[in-house]
Amino acid sequence: MSVAAFLVRGVLVDSGFPNVSHEFRQFVDPSRLRGAMITHSHEDHAGNVALLAERGVPVSLPALSRGVTERPAPLALYRRWTWGSPDPTAFPLTTFTSDEFELLPAPGHSRDHHVVWDKAEGTLFGGDLFIGVKVRVAHPGEDIRGTVASLRRVAELGPARFFDAHRGLVARPMDSLQAKVQWIEDTIGAIEDRHRAGANESQILRDVLGGEALLGLASGGDYSRRNFVRSIVSSLVDPRPSVGA
Ligand SMILES: [Zn+2]
Repeated sequence: MSVAAFLVRGVLVDSGFPNVSHEFRQFVDPSRLRGAMITHSHEDHAGNVALLAERGVPVSLPALSRGVTERPAPLALYRRWTWGSPDPTAFPLTTFTSDEFELLPAPGHSRDHHVVWDKAEGTLFGGDLFIGVKVRVAHPGEDIRGTVASLRRVAELGPARFFDAHRGLVARPMDSLQAKVQWIEDTIGAIEDRHRAGANESQILRDVLGGEALLGLASGGDYSRRNFVRSIVSSLVDPRPSVGA
């Protein structure tokens, strides 16, 4: 897996992951960086906030991300292996503020997830909002319906350019955002139909998403298709009466 951080007019969007902290340290030149904006607290985005703070770079960070960056919780083995464990960040940070860039809430992928909106250029840095159209895997507690609402809100900005943290430049951003909304809504509909018909979680997983992904197995179920199904079923307002599985 790979992840991008972006540098635009002296402003850094996200900070990479802890396993590249050595290279990142060479890159961070406070005289060149006006500040940094962090989309959310996952270690592949906020992995080097401690280093930015240590180098005196002002940082804009979602309020909900503070606890995780101040006291990072132990990560699952597959995340430690892929990205590494972040160092704790000492607060208070010097806060970065800008008239050109906004950190806008876009929850769903995580509660603290934000996007960075470059108003002057109409460019959106989407963090992990998009990743791809047909993303069938989710973390525990990920809110798939929340992601749809965030995608719709972001589309209303009408971005001319959209940079995804894992995909880079997304061609035809409006079409891509709309395609993702459509695919998730169709998938939610199929999951709800199977749920109402009495299917259990494993049956829905098999019938709608084609069973568990290799990533789901490799992560011990932490980043899995089952979590996607669970997010939809657990958020049904009027769950069907309990029936035999
Ligand atoms: Zn993330």
